[in-house]
Amino acid sequence: MTTQETINLFDKYVIGNYGRLARVIVKGSGSRLWDADGNEILDMFPGWAVSGIGHCHPKVVEAIQRQAAELIHIDNTFYIEQQGRLAQMLSERGFGGKCFFCNSGAEANEAALKLARLHTDAKKYKFITTEKSFHGRSIATVTATGQPKYHKGFLPLVPGFKHIPFNDIKALEAAFDDEVAAVMIEPIQGEGGINVATDEFISAIRRLCDEKGALMIFDEVQTGMGRTGKWYACQHFDVEPDIITLAKALGGGMAIGAMMAKPEIADSLVPGTHASTFGGNPMACSAAIAVIEAVEEENLLSNAIDMGAYTREKLEELAGEYQIIDHVRGIGLMIGLQLKSSGAEIVSKCLEKGLRINCTQGSVIRFMPAMTVTREQIDSAIDIFRSVLKDTKQAAEDEENQ
Ligand SMILES: *Cc1c(COP(=O)(O)O)cnc(C)c1O
Repeated sequence: MTTQETINLFDKYVIGNYGRLARVIVKGSGSRLWDADGNEILDMFPGWAVSGIGHCHPKVVEAIQRQAAELIHIDNTFYIEQQGRLAQMLSERGFGGKCFFCNSGAEANEAALKLARLHTDAKKYKFITTEKSFHGRSIATVTATGQPKYHKGFLPLVPGFKHIPFNDIKALEAAFDDEVAAVMIEPIQGEGGINVATDEFISAIRRLCDEKGALMIFDEVQTGMGRTGKWYACQHFDVEPDIITLAKALGGGMAIGAMMAKPEIADSLVPGTHASTFGGNPMACSAAIAVIEAVEEENLLSNAIDMGAYTREKLEELAGEYQIIDHVRGIGLMIGLQLKSSGAEIVSKCLEKGLRINCTQGSVIRFMPAMTVTREQIDSAIDIFRSVLKDTKQAAEDEENQ
């Protein structure tokens, strides 16, 4: 089938709720992709952070193939070793919590919100989240998401959600009352433009939650599983949240989400309160176990730190060369490049030259390569990116001189 024939199928049969690039992808390996026309693409934003250890990591492929031949699905009426082992691995690398498994980030956050309602006293029904946050597309998680553009057409939303400016302690204090069940934040806002929480803000959330009997939820759907150089981004801060949610990179490409809560809190989720048919199935859990093993066997946490530092250094160089770049920010391999103007055209020009990056919030370029990325691949990416910046600058100058 040609690229156009596939696109025609979509036009006719697939609901058009995504802005798609006109490429059909047929294969992936590590930080590389191939499209149906044989073009190779260097992927510095693999799967929107899902392919955190690269496309088709051999250990993940092997685990999936092995598991598929044994047992693809079994319902949560039974026990399976894989789900127990994965929960143990996540717990031991974090704060010793207990896990609930589901299939996506939105579901993990839904579970966290429900658990917070169940665990705190009955009058607490409010949630504080931040502006520019992204927590998912279900009706509760889109309500939690502090971006009006995602609320359009869905009003009225779920009652009780308040959005405060990120890192604004005064606003946090003002929003808090005795009816707040939880504060949910991303330690580094992803979709919101790679905004890193301050130590003071995180500490203030912890203090207020403790004072008022509310829970602290970290949405680590994008930051979790090692991208920042630690298993969980909360480990960059002095305080522990009560609940962490995970998804994206957890399954190495398989659909899996998880909510991990401190044991005394987790125990409020008793039979009948919450469930997921596909949650924690053998395929997804085997893949996630393989991801954790691969990260440790291949020292990918330290590679994320080293390659993150290297990418930043290269991007800082570019910031010195090109006026359009305002500054670089982020932690580890979660890197944002704040531009002074729109980044959409830069991203599409990069793709034409074989480099995939992302632009969010109009003017923030996201570099979020796989944790397996090499120095050579970063060099190639920077070369392409530089040439696009050069062309863009030249085009702007030409326009001015006309
Ligand atoms: C992607 C994302 C979600 C939503 O995950 P889905 O799997 O698309 O439901 C939630 N929170 C954060 C921080 C995300 O980056």
